[in-house]
Amino acid sequence: MSPVGRGPTRRSVLAAGSAAALSMLSGCERRTEGYEGGWVGASAERGHLLRGAATGAASAASAPASSRRVGAIVVGAGIAGLAAARALMRAGVDDVRVLELEDAAGGNSRGHALGGMRCPLGAHYLPTPGASAVEVIELLEQLGVRKTVHGRAEYDERMLCHSPQERLFIEGAWREGLLPPVEALVAGERAATLAAYRSFSAAVTELGRAEAFEIPTARSRWSPALAALDATTFAAWLDARGLQAPALRWYLDYCCRDDYGAGAGQVSAWAGLHYFASRHGFHAPGSDDGQPADGGDGVLTWPEGNAWLAERLAAPLGERLLAGRVVLRVREGRGEVDVDAWNVATRALERWTAARVVVATPLFVAARLLESPPSALRTAAAAMRHAPWLVANLQLAEALDDRPGAPPSWDNVPYGSPGLGYVDAMHQSTRPFAGPTVLTAYWALGGNSAAELEAGRARLLHEDWRLWAGRIVADLSVMHPDLAGKLRRADLMRYGHAMSIPLPGARSSAALAALAAPQPRVQFAHADLSSYSVFEEAFFHGTRAGRAAAAA
Ligand SMILES: Cc1cc2nc3c(=O)[nH]c(=O)nc-3n(C[C@H](O)[C@H](O)[C@H](O)COP(=O)(O)OP(=O)(O)OC[C@H]3O[C@@H](n4cnc5c(N)ncnc54)[C@H](O)[C@@H]3O)c2cc1C
Repeated sequence: MSPVGRGPTRRSVLAAGSAAALSMLSGCERRTEGYEGGWVGASAERGHLLRGAATGAASAASAPASSRRVGAIVVGAGIAGLAAARALMRAGVDDVRVLELEDAAGGNSRGHALGGMRCPLGAHYLPTPGASAVEVIELLEQLGVRKTVHGRAEYDERMLCHSPQERLFIEGAWREGLLPPVEALVAGERAATLAAYRSFSAAVTELGRAEAFEIPTARSRWSPALAALDATTFAAWLDARGLQAPALRWYLDYCCRDDYGAGAGQVSAWAGLHYFASRHGFHAPGSDDGQPADGGDGVLTWPEGNAWLAERLAAPLGERLLAGRVVLRVREGRGEVDVDAWNVATRALERWTAARVVVATPLFVAARLLESPPSALRTAAAAMRHAPWLVANLQLAEALDDRPGAPPSWDNVPYGSPGLGYVDAMHQSTRPFAGPTVLTAYWALGGNSAAELEAGRARLLHEDWRLWAGRIVADLSVMHPDLAGKLRRADLMRYGHAMSIPLPGARSSAALAALAAPQPRVQFAHADLSSYSVFEEAFFHGTRAGRAAAAA
């Protein structure tokens, strides 16, 4: 680990690859002192019930204690499931039940609270949507977040991320933005890095013209050139273009881990480029397009992150939302579908029957739930890899001291770290002083290979929370040596299978396309269908599947 008070050295950055960096940190692991905490937010035991059912261990699955027939059933109350229920109700199917494994709706977009302050458990922002995301635009207008005035979008200022938005800690000082500035690099690297920035920027600009990187991805134009990008890893694509400047590679790897949960060695070149071409582009320093060096489009955020949206999607469901229900089996009959769910509170099996069913779980779960999964589902689930993630909410008794350079921002990232930095839950607050807050730190553990991913997941699932809290505190202490002394509580959320990684071949997958098309009785809805996980994709697939179910 770098000594406190200095940014990571160039050598530590070259050694990146999160598994290497993890083992680097393990040398300075320490047990937590002076603060409380623990694992929060997800029930591994409930997930294991499902595994038991698949192996026949949950024999209760064949003897329901109750049976009910309803108009429609949605399995899973993540963003996709909530969107599906909303679409069904809007289409006049009011007798809907949403069965959710956890005690609250939201899935990866749930919220938490510490010391009376709300904070995210997972997703924490939504970029202001582009024109193709019509469903999300309509939702934001319904919720009063956005309105269209004289043909122009206006957003509620309280929800647009306040300035300053992002900063990077490099060589002992904070710099505005997240792209490593060339002047912070050793003199011998500057010219080559700037040339690499410019070359990558030109490639992104060129690709961005083709309307091939729309969100949702289903509305993009597809072409043989894009299929070629989807056939290789982003790292291989960059290597082939000689784009090897360490600062550029660190930044691009960071972006892949941030959006896809895994590094540039795993995600496809299509996905690596999509990150930039679909939204804000990539602007090399000194380019005359008037843009900041690494974007700057609008970002919507709330103290509790995207739970703000999830809670507003769940509210109209009322008693239609049945939390604490672990769906164990979905069986298609001739005209109707039986959904068997374990009620965690009553410890009894319930059978729900409906003609319309939407399965809005990750696809590997859907493949287990369906008694007779279609071959496309088996193919798609077998080809996917899901990245593990760790989210730590750190309650601080008082504001942190700051280091030289750019001022405290919403998103604060240490250069060369195996983590992704932290966001400040009080950033949107208008209080006139810096005080107690909650920092939400993110670590994506997908690594750069299947082996690194499995190792990361094993450590996440089997190691004590105190070890992980200690690693996170050590990582952030490089920027904030006073953090450990001000930390009161660390609540950690671990996701064993958080999000599907857009591996080479995923975007072109015929199996995923088949599952996103209308099905006879059981529709599929989840961000997995886009091969990567963001709010817009989940909401799009949920709305699409809900409409298809209503029309069925
Ligand atoms: C740490 C993290 C940070 C993220 N940050 C962002 C961000 O800032 N912005 C963004 O846009 N996206 C972010 N994402 C992506 C996020 O996954 C999506 O935005 C979105 O929440 C995905 O919704 P979904 O409905 O597709 O999936 P999920 O959230 O996976 O929902 C699936 C639901 O199904 C339920 N379920 C599973 N099995 C069963 C069963 N057997 N019975 C009943 N219910 C079941 C689950 O409990 C869950 O509620 C982040 C993801 C993670 C993990």
